[in-house]
Amino acid sequence: MKPNDIYDLAIIGGGINGTGIARDAAGRGLKVLLAESDDLASATSSASTKLIHGGLRYLEYFEFRLVSEALAEREVLLSIAPHIVWPLEFVLPHERHLRPAWMIRAGLFLYDHLGARAFGLGAGRSSLPKSRSVSLAADGYGAGLKPEFGRGFVYFDCWVDDARLVVLNARSAAQHGATILTRTRCTGARREKGVWVVALGGEGGVRSISARALVNAAGPWVKSLLDHELKLASPGKVRLVKGSHIVVPRIHDKRHAYILQNPDRRIVFLIPYERDFTLVGTTDVPVPESEGRPEISTAEIAYLCEAASRYTGRTVTPAAVLWSYSGVRPLYDDGSADPSAVTRDYHLMLDTGGAADAQAGAPLLSVFGGKITTYRRLAEHALDELSRWFPHTRPWTHAEPLPGGDFGDADFDGLLTDYKRRYPKLLIQWLARLLRRHGVLAAAILAAAKTDADLGENFGGGLYEAELRYLIANEWARDAADVLWRRTKCGLHMTEAQRSRVAQFMHDLGEAA
Ligand SMILES: Cc1cc2nc3c(=O)[nH]c(=O)nc-3n(C[C@H](O)[C@H](O)[C@H](O)COP(=O)(O)OP(=O)(O)OC[C@H]3O[C@@H](n4cnc5c(N)ncnc54)[C@H](O)[C@@H]3O)c2cc1C
Repeated sequence: MKPNDIYDLAIIGGGINGTGIARDAAGRGLKVLLAESDDLASATSSASTKLIHGGLRYLEYFEFRLVSEALAEREVLLSIAPHIVWPLEFVLPHERHLRPAWMIRAGLFLYDHLGARAFGLGAGRSSLPKSRSVSLAADGYGAGLKPEFGRGFVYFDCWVDDARLVVLNARSAAQHGATILTRTRCTGARREKGVWVVALGGEGGVRSISARALVNAAGPWVKSLLDHELKLASPGKVRLVKGSHIVVPRIHDKRHAYILQNPDRRIVFLIPYERDFTLVGTTDVPVPESEGRPEISTAEIAYLCEAASRYTGRTVTPAAVLWSYSGVRPLYDDGSADPSAVTRDYHLMLDTGGAADAQAGAPLLSVFGGKITTYRRLAEHALDELSRWFPHTRPWTHAEPLPGGDFGDADFDGLLTDYKRRYPKLLIQWLARLLRRHGVLAAAILAAAKTDADLGENFGGGLYEAELRYLIANEWARDAADVLWRRTKCGLHMTEAQRSRVAQFMHDLGEAA
């Protein structure tokens, strides 16, 4: 990057929305720069429930646009990222006094059909099975629950590795020519002679770049970036709502997740996580302006344990919690009193600086709200909003697989069988985990490996030196947390001593570089 470089688009924020917009714009031929103050996905985009879902509960708030768009996106993301997105079956134990069966059936019927209708795919085109009612005891769908839950409903949504989705979008953006700068903070930006002059602070000090358009994708900091760094008055308001998850030893050995109704009418998920665990979440806690990294409170742990224990055969206690994480939802403020009811839909706010001729003012587009699920459509809408400045481009991201996702005619199981044949000395469980992280790009990590001894130092938890070096070289990994908790979840399977060894190894590599 040279000091006087002029970009078409400068994007502030390396969460899912910033990287999604960077990928889309770069693939349309724009010269793009993305600046992220910390690591990619270091904020909300690695702290989600990790569902690509229409959001069954949003039907109760009549969010039909959001649900339709999100349901259609399940199919798109399954096809462009089959390594990190996969179908997940949900079981909803029925409790008559909370919601009558007819209401749930009607909701699920709508859920089954909305996506296909809204996007003209034609009924029956969803690759996911339709919902149905089941006997929990007879069909094995009540595993881990109290025996009193006799009947329920099952339906499908999808699971996603949220942090990897962000990194792969960044990687694809870079492959299309974007400049991705992590550990680089936007410290100010102003309009000057029809372009944005953006000040970026990083390890090398402060430098300026120019851009024809600016995107504010700072997530929970969207408003504070406008107020403080950009010094612009904006009518858009953001509601910051913290959500936390706990990880406990797995409560059953089946593959399905539970969606549980709480007496406060909120829902809580129990999701199989990283083979050995169950993920329980989430909470809705309004918080003031986002400063440091959010953390789970004792009250949230108690709430989640209680919500799970109303259903589980074995009580889930705070002492069983092995790990937790929290994120802040940057929701668009629609004036709702109840934090669970605030819209999960996104709003894009275009500011052209009040110039009489809209084309004369360098545009600023701010992203309020959104879901991981709808990031790709959000990016397309963002490029639509900017089309006056960047005309004659076309949407393309629905058709090109994300890095590692080009499976050809194979499905995941077929790919795994092929890798098992090619690398017979490697443990199949480990190969499966590697393929889930990297898809067909796992080949680059395995290139030299005939046995696991070829993979360099074994750090434990399923992490080898060969993958660690790959993450540093190709995925902007800089410190141990980037690797252990975002590019992989190996940290969850390690001891403290093993995690420290990874930190030391990365520190030593940095010193040597
Ligand atoms: C508990 C919880 C559960 C959720 N579950 C789901 C789910 O299951 N499915 C789903 O679809 N969605 C879910 N979501 C919503 C989803 O996670 C968010 O909508 C999405 O991650 C927001 O992404 P973002 O890019 O806008 O923000 P972020 O991921 O927060 O990214 C913003 C980035 O901007 C950077 N930044 C800020 N200021 C600056 C600056 N001055 N300079 C440079 N960089 C800066 C930050 O460091 C940050 O990395 C959930 C959210 C939460 C909190």
